Amino acid sequence: MLETTKNIGKDFVLSVEGLTVSFDGFKAVNDLSFYVEENEIRVIIGPNGAGKTTVLDLICGRTAATEGSIKFKGKELTKMKEHQIVHTGVGRKFQNPSIYEDLTVFENLELSFPRGHSVFGALFFKRDKEVIEKISEIAAMIFLGDKLGMSADLLSHGQKQWLEIGMLLIQDPELLMLDEPVAGMSVSERKQTADLLHRITKDRSVLVIEHDMQFVAEIADRVTVLHQGKVLSEGSMERVQSDPKVIEVYLGH
Ligand code: ADP
Ligand code: MG
Repeated sequence: MLETTKNIGKDFVLSVEGLTVSFDGFKAVNDLSFYVEENEIRVIIGPNGAGKTTVLDLICGRTAATEGSIKFKGKELTKMKEHQIVHTGVGRKFQNPSIYEDLTVFENLELSFPRGHSVFGALFFKRDKEVIEKISEIAAMIFLGDKLGMSADLLSHGQKQWLEIGMLLIQDPELLMLDEPVAGMSVSERKQTADLLHRITKDRSVLVIEHDMQFVAEIADRVTVLHQGKVLSEGSMERVQSDPKVIEVYLGH
């Protein structure tokens, strides 16, 4: 009774089909299929060890699939290297913020600006109007508009998480993947993060792993429940929450 629909006339930005990864015979992800639409916020939930982080590792090319297909905007990702996947427009945030603590908020965002990457880009990088405007725009979006000159190590844990989201947004990904983005955040920071995700999906899709069910209810268009590397249930938050299979797995833990 999965609500997953096959691609008939709909715009799926991401199609995962029959995805499997085997670690020494153990299938952490096992014949998994799911589809994410444009502008959708999809949340993946599931007990510890369900394979959630491994799914993101597979999509961003950090882990190679044993079988199956991952199509992003029609392009097969399973054959690509990590940096090529980034270039097709997939951005991924890891559980712990990986920002440059000794640089300012501005400098962190500047370093992530696409032109800053290549050797020549870095050498001849000018803080021209376009770059400064983009950095200001992103900083305002991530609630750090008045903190551009602040050293990143002085930010709260939540603000560091936002900065890392900003460092991804500045590259304009069409799919943004976040692993437990509100872990360690205060209630008000969680609310702001929910607002932020709703705003950024005007231009992109977001795939989030999250445990905080109140936050999931606030952001999810659809929820995919993962269990033992497979889809256990999928649909609206109300639907998966009342699914006896989901209740059993969660109460069983
Ligand atoms: P989740 O994020 O849902 O908690 P993970 O995707 O991190 O789960 O892990 C799923 C399962 O796969 C776990 O049993 C974990 O130990 C195993 N696993 C993940 N990565 C590896 C790896 N590189 N080698 C071996 N086992 C792994
Ligand atoms: Mg995980």
